[in-house]
Amino acid sequence: MIVSDAFAGKRYAVLGLARSGLATVDTLAASGAHVVAWDQREDARARVAGKADLADPLEIDLAGFDAVVVSPGVPLNRHPIAARAREAGVPIIGDIELFALARPTLPPHRVVGITGTNGKSTTTALIHHIVRNAGLPTRMGGNIGLPILGQDPLAAGGVYVLELSSYQIDLTFSLDCDVAVLLNITPDHLDRYAGFGGYVASKARLFEMQSPAHVAVIATDDAVSRGVAEQVPHARLVSAGSVDPAAQARWPALQGPHNAQNVAVALAVADALGISPGSTLAALESYASLPHRMQAVGEHRGVLYVNDSKATNAASTAPALAAWPPVDGRRRIHWILGGLPKSDTLDECVPGFPNVAHGYTIGDAGPLFARLLGAAGVPVSECELLVTAVSEAAARAVPGDIVLLSPACASFDQFRDFEARGDAFAAAVAALAERSGAGEGA
Ligand code: ADP
Repeated sequence: MIVSDAFAGKRYAVLGLARSGLATVDTLAASGAHVVAWDQREDARARVAGKADLADPLEIDLAGFDAVVVSPGVPLNRHPIAARAREAGVPIIGDIELFALARPTLPPHRVVGITGTNGKSTTTALIHHIVRNAGLPTRMGGNIGLPILGQDPLAAGGVYVLELSSYQIDLTFSLDCDVAVLLNITPDHLDRYAGFGGYVASKARLFEMQSPAHVAVIATDDAVSRGVAEQVPHARLVSAGSVDPAAQARWPALQGPHNAQNVAVALAVADALGISPGSTLAALESYASLPHRMQAVGEHRGVLYVNDSKATNAASTAPALAAWPPVDGRRRIHWILGGLPKSDTLDECVPGFPNVAHGYTIGDAGPLFARLLGAAGVPVSECELLVTAVSEAAARAVPGDIVLLSPACASFDQFRDFEARGDAFAAAVAALAERSGAGEGA
């Protein structure tokens, strides 16, 4: 874990004790800070016993605290802690800001910070892989689900690769990334911001925190990101179109136009870090995809099953639909979609409709999405449940087809999270193989 003199003798209130909150308490307590911690769940509170005093920051006098550290899951636009901290004149920060404050006490290192609406985790994991392949000490952390404070500090010359959601950037004020990255911006998370402009401004702050001598890499494939780039004079501009399709064919886990964008960005970052092109290209070949992102989970009777459960909005599903165009005029994608909708359209997916043989809708969005597909002339079945969708798709698909779970929705109506949804898909696919195995044996 990261321990730093920067926190010694200071006072912090920590609100939210999930993964990053627990790592925050550990770091602060081990660094000699005085910590008050709280979570609405009793079992979460029990996990900080002995390291922090338990009290709800909403109910104590915050005067004299150095900061309130909140989890990025706390909606600051609605949660009363924002006003309480403001009245007490105490800043609200997150674990990434604590990391930024600890940096001067760590061995010399560089930080790559990656944001964007879609592709953050993939690009973070890819850059981490490229850096490690080049022989540099490296860790990845942040929104990717690995709290950075919980990891051991790197030796001198190391590179921290951080995935940063806009919520995390909102809680960060002094992170001067050596290389800051913006992949793309499309409407998302609008419940947390005063309109789309607020969301865009949040992403743009990653560059405002940078010293101008540092490197900014911005993909200019969408108009909003181009607008941000205009405000960042030190930006290096890249685009998906600069990636040679023949070369991309050699990178198995980086297929599709969206991954061309992720690669374009990763190449610019590797160059900024001084990594040789030969080493970077070798890393693109050996990169393996993250679970739940266009992950092939099985092949059964000549049909490929692909888990893209992480696609929680229409913009992130669009590239999955683009990945398998018709062959000899035959549409091949059996598309399982639906869940908790984030919008009442599928506009970004419409260009991919001509690749869809049949749609299978699930969850709350099922009836709405079935209407949208039907109106566009795409055959569709309302399945409600994921298992039903998998067995109906398996019954209809023929060899050469793809059964794709790319829901364009959040998962919370039927699953704990997108990982549980992807795991349920993989389990349903495994059950198909077992059932037919049993059938063949009988
Ligand atoms: P994030 O961490 O930003 O949510 P992920 O890398 O986990 O992004 O990918 C989320 C989803 O978005 C996946 O379904 C993936 O296929 C899709 N995706 C990945 N990269 C991009 C991109 N550059 N543009 C649009 N969609 C993308």
